[in-house]
Amino acid sequence: MMEQGRPTGVSGRSSNGETFQTFTGNRGLDQTEALIYEIGDITKTGVDFPKVGEFKSRLGGIERRGEIGLAGLSEPETMRHYTRLSRMNCAIDLGLYPLGSCTMKHNPRLNEKIARLSGMIDVHPLQPISTVQGSLDVIDTLAHWLKTVTGMPAIAMSPKAGAHGELCGLMAIRSALDARGEVRGTILAPESAHGTNPATAAFCGYKVKSIPATDEGRVDMAALEAAIDSDVAAIMLTNPNTCGLFERDVKTIADMIHAAGGYFYCDGANFNAIVGKVRPGDLGVDAMHFNLHKTFSTPHGGGGPGAGPVVLSDALAPYAPVPYVIHGEEGFELIEHAGGTESFGRMTAFHGQMGMFTRALAYMMSHGADGLARISEDAVLNANYVLASLKDVMSASYEGPCMHEALFDDRFLKDTGITTLDFAKAMIDEGYHPMTMYFPLVVHGAMLIEPTESESKQEVDRFIGTLRHLTKLATSGGNEKHFTNAPFLAPTKRMDETLAARKPILRWVKPEEG
Ligand SMILES: *Cc1c(COP(=O)(O)O)cnc(C)c1O
Repeated sequence: MMEQGRPTGVSGRSSNGETFQTFTGNRGLDQTEALIYEIGDITKTGVDFPKVGEFKSRLGGIERRGEIGLAGLSEPETMRHYTRLSRMNCAIDLGLYPLGSCTMKHNPRLNEKIARLSGMIDVHPLQPISTVQGSLDVIDTLAHWLKTVTGMPAIAMSPKAGAHGELCGLMAIRSALDARGEVRGTILAPESAHGTNPATAAFCGYKVKSIPATDEGRVDMAALEAAIDSDVAAIMLTNPNTCGLFERDVKTIADMIHAAGGYFYCDGANFNAIVGKVRPGDLGVDAMHFNLHKTFSTPHGGGGPGAGPVVLSDALAPYAPVPYVIHGEEGFELIEHAGGTESFGRMTAFHGQMGMFTRALAYMMSHGADGLARISEDAVLNANYVLASLKDVMSASYEGPCMHEALFDDRFLKDTGITTLDFAKAMIDEGYHPMTMYFPLVVHGAMLIEPTESESKQEVDRFIGTLRHLTKLATSGGNEKHFTNAPFLAPTKRMDETLAARKPILRWVKPEEG
């Protein structure tokens, strides 16, 4: 805990009682905050409602008898409660957020402004079609540009996350196979694949065959050739892959899978590295999800819902889910029912994440075609700058340049007693969200760093300086003082995340009752 009236000279105290100075001058996220039920009071309120006059209840005997027991706070207390809670998190608005594979880029406020225009926000999906033509235009225009940047003929807009998009793609693939009268049971996925790929395949009832990576971090072509047979429904391939490398053989892979009668699902989570540069349609892709919340800057990671539209090739287009927008006689129309079509059906109640569509379209239109190409150039440049500036002190997993993220492993921590987890936790004391840890699985103790194009050279230099400082501490005996049990300055330290996930406590119980 922090002492009161502490001078500006910023220091922390490690578990062995020694004080230390942070490199960035970060003093941690310093206010703890109790639950709203613990600080609130049922007799208190931020608004004064007029007294209710005499009335006759029409609830017929099911009226509430006791106090509702909701915690009340004054308006400033409410603001402070949520502001303090927000300060217990690392956030993109607080600092560089190098979480690899997640593309934590700046969320431009222009997008927020557009999404909050009343014509955008005050509509309901059950309104008559003639009254929501503008919203359907947003969906249709975004769909057009997403097809254009990928060189693909069709798109399903409704999936609500990357993983949901994967499910959409595999369901379209299964429908296409059904239409051919074929039953195939295997999905191929490289070892470096994101966990959602095999999970989606298994959820769809497929068996997953894992394809090893070469020492260069790319798909082992000999192993792939050996794995392809007439039972393979599809390959799920991330490109650039999760080692931050472009799969040079991607075209050959597409040809091989097609020759065997299978389909090519591309995980497009890393599209930020190639947007405006490479069109997946030219590489033989049959289906690819976007993460609008990654590539197209819509907030995620607690800041907003995802959106995972899926582009489809001609072979898969007929099986796309409903609803979808078409250009009708009198403006835009919605195809709502799958009956009488080859569509595999419906995945979501309505059209998808409308607010995120608006933000993503605002982002695309404010950047233009040249701006989008510049995004991937700058994202790749920043990642290579990080790689080049750190590879003398951290162990880069692969030779040569990377795409938009730089992969390191834990060899540089050998004999220090410090693990990837300890190193990542120490970054929190410096005010940074850790990089992605222990993923991909193909290298030991992985640390995957994605700076994104959002960051200026000064910001990236500060980040690099911080990591160089930490590597120096790590390799000069700073174990106990800086790493074991880090973070020392965060309001919550090392939580039992497994227990929290397996046995979440979702209900607050008043102490005297519990
Ligand atoms: C983020 C990510 C996903 C999953 O996307 P969600 O939107 O989180 O469901 C899948 N694959 C890769 C490579 C990713 O980085």
